[in-house]
Order: sequence, then C-alpha cells, then structure tokens
Amino acid sequence: MIAEQIALLKELQTYDLRILALKNRIDTLPLGVKQLKEKIEKESKGLEEKKKETQAAELARRKLELELREKEESLRKFQLQLNEAKTNKEYSTLLQQIKELKETNSQRESRILEMLDEQDALHQQEGKELSLLKEENEKLSEEEKRIAAELEILKSQLTEEANKRKLLSANVNKAALSLYEKIRGSKKNDLAIVQIRAETCSGCFMKLPSSVMENVRKGKEFVLCENCSRILYL
Ligand SMILES: [Zn+2]
Repeated sequence: MIAEQIALLKELQTYDLRILALKNRIDTLPLGVKQLKEKIEKESKGLEEKKKETQAAELARRKLELELREKEESLRKFQLQLNEAKTNKEYSTLLQQIKELKETNSQRESRILEMLDEQDALHQQEGKELSLLKEENEKLSEEEKRIAAELEILKSQLTEEANKRKLLSANVNKAALSLYEKIRGSKKNDLAIVQIRAETCSGCFMKLPSSVMENVRKGKEFVLCENCSRILYL
C-alpha cells in the first residue's frame, strides 16, 4: 500500500520537476530580448540627443555665415566711402575700420570652416550609429520571432505535462497527496520525496538514525526525514 503510493508520488514528482523547469524556462527566455530592447531604446535616445546637438551646431554656423555676409557688405561700403573720403582723418579712420573688419571676417571664415569639419564628423558618427541601430533592430525582431515560437512550444509542453500530472494525481491517495503537496510547497527546489542513499537522506544529506531506517524498511507508513521533513524511500 505505502510502496504503491511512494511509487505514484515519485512519478508525480517527476512531472512536477519537469513542470517547474518548463516554467523557469518560460520566465527566463524573454529576458535576453528585454535587455536588447532596453539597450536599443537607450541608444535611440542617445542618437536623438546627438541629432539635436548637430542641429543646434548647424544653426549656429548659419548664423555666423549670415553675420559674415553682413560684415562683408559693411566692408564693401567702407571701401566705397574710402574713395569719397574728404579728409586725411576720415581716410585713416576708414582704413583702420577696414583693416579690423578684414581681420574679424577672416576669423569668422576660419571658425565657419572648423564648424563644417565638426559637423561632418558628427554626421559621420550619426550615420554609423544609425546603421548599428538598424542592425540591432533587425536582430531584435529576429530574436522576438524565435522566442515567440519557442515560448509557444514550451507552453504547449507545459499544458501537456500539467494534464498528465492531473490524471496521475487522481490515482494518488488523498492523504498522501496532501502530505506531498505540503512538503513540496515548503521546498524551494520542489523535492518532496527523496531516496535514501547509504543511510543518508538525499534531500539534506543527513545520516539517518537506525530507528528511521527501520521504519522505512517496514514500509507501513510514510517516514519523513527528521531534519528536512521530506518523505523517504529506499
Ligand atoms: Zn533530509
């Protein structure tokens, strides 16, 4: 009687362990995709920020170009005025202004060239990041498809195992089943029934007293490990 129930509980435990493994796999399978998704989101945000910076830099360059054009216009006016200067003082003041303007305009030109170089570099960097992001997005959608397919298989396996377990549990004695469930519920690795190996509980590896061994041999009742409370069998 006990031996028969022990055999059923062992079988039940096999299903429970399989079910637990399937559930763990189902829970952990999407984690890699989740991480990749978060990485892509972070990189996309970074790229958006960079684009804004590039736009701001471009705006600043355009402003400087406009300023340069205005100053070049001023320069032309001064040069015209130079031809019409009436006094020496007026003439030398204009010359000085022209000289200063030429200098500042030349500085503006150099700065504009620098800005163009900077923007080229930014555009190139953006292009690289964009194509990397595209690759990652493709990888992500492939991974998502693969994982969705695998999840579907795992879930159908889980349903199958759970149905088999349900059928089996109907054959187990009610008191035995409730004892098993109670122990299983308190154990993180889900082992509720364990084999005795070399007079040792294989659940907690405690050496079993001879009285316990004796009771297990008699096989008249369920014998629990005094240390870990698991059901013992030989
Ligand atoms: Zn034990």
